[in-house]
Amino acid sequence: MKKTTTSLFKVAQTQLEIAAKALKLDANILEMLKYPKRTLKVNIPVEMDDGRIQMFEGYRVQYNDMRGPCKGGVRYHPDVSEDEVTALAAWMTWKCAVLAIPYGGAKGGIVCDPTQMSQNELQRLTRRYTATIMPLLGPNLDIPAPDVYTGTKEMAWIMDTYSVFKGYSEPGSVTGKSLSIGGSMGRREATGRGVSLAVREMAGKLKLSLKGLRIAVQGFGNVGSVTADLLSRMGCSVVAASDVTGGVYDPSGLDVPALLAHAGKHRVIKGFAAKEMITNQELLTLPVDVLIPAALERQITGENAHLVKAKFVAEAANGPTTLEADEALEKRKIPVLPDILTNAGGVVVSYFEWVQARNAYFWSEKEVNDKLEGMMVKAFNDVWAMAEKHKVSLRVAAYMLAVSRVAEAFRERELFP
Ligand code: NAD
Repeated sequence: MKKTTTSLFKVAQTQLEIAAKALKLDANILEMLKYPKRTLKVNIPVEMDDGRIQMFEGYRVQYNDMRGPCKGGVRYHPDVSEDEVTALAAWMTWKCAVLAIPYGGAKGGIVCDPTQMSQNELQRLTRRYTATIMPLLGPNLDIPAPDVYTGTKEMAWIMDTYSVFKGYSEPGSVTGKSLSIGGSMGRREATGRGVSLAVREMAGKLKLSLKGLRIAVQGFGNVGSVTADLLSRMGCSVVAASDVTGGVYDPSGLDVPALLAHAGKHRVIKGFAAKEMITNQELLTLPVDVLIPAALERQITGENAHLVKAKFVAEAANGPTTLEADEALEKRKIPVLPDILTNAGGVVVSYFEWVQARNAYFWSEKEVNDKLEGMMVKAFNDVWAMAEKHKVSLRVAAYMLAVSRVAEAFRERELFP
């Protein structure tokens, strides 16, 4: 996949500035919102299985906590950088505000290739990272969650390490945990469920029937695979899917249950028998109704936006569309459902998990899913109404909503000292 060298955090700052201008935001408040509150860079020594000690670079960025404790995932990937983690932490701030969740935004990451590491190495890495960023963590301070290449296991290690240091079990210290240690029903599927609900609402506004709606999903991990599954259950036709190993395409619709079973067994799409094999780039330009980038940032760029044929784009990944691509798609009247709304289902159920864990009182899956649907639909309608009122794109509308909520909290609390 093609990468640009533009700073991702610069993209996040520009998005904020566009919203601030549309809101005629006070310059002092904009100055407050343009920078992260706290950035911690750590070096993490890990004993590898062969006895060598290898040093890994890690980050935790707390962007803003005006509306509540910081919240955000931890990413393990070779491309992790301070710039990327800061942008992701900013987006978490806006995402929580769009969904009216009482959280601020944070993000963490470690520069590593987890696909080349053993479980024991990953465990030592995760525990040492947790111990090193320990002063920033806590259920009232900053609550990690899974992101790319981290999941329930890493969350269990973080929670256990935190609890060992505290001397008591603290299930409110992370979200995205297994049920056996205080996780929530519905958390694993939450982001994909939220994406599918956002796509459903958008299709309704554009008067597109869900039945046979042609979907292409880039990325078939937690988010992409659940999104594909739920949309196909709603009657949509998932015609293309891809992951790091490449993609598959069938204009008459892929066999989604078979693809899920294959990916579940082999962990990758490669090897799945489909009509056509395609590249990740080709997937982005297929003749579909909905294009869902659900892998990494900067996939739809100034160079390929003119080739996108979808009726709308639903950003399941964080930051998959560059600023140039955003402009190009807007000119071509291809609406983009922005990431800070579309993929917020995960943080909504993370919030539910935190509430349940802190009360030691757990809800049924139906209760979780119903509450998630209520919050996603409300946020979608809030963003839609803002876009109509101010005649702006859905992205600018989502930012306007988020920034106005964070700004309101700031005006109320004021600056100390
Ligand atoms: P994951 O690790 O479960 O899956 C990532 C997927 O992307 C895999 O299928 C992988 O093969 C694919 N991928 C990796 N590199 C690729 C490449 N170069 N080209 C094409 N595909 C590639 O991660 P996830 O949790 O599904 O997260 C995916 C995106 O969704 C990320 O942008 C993440 O920040 C965002 N997101 C995740 C959550 C969540 O709850 N997991 C919540 C909000 C947003």
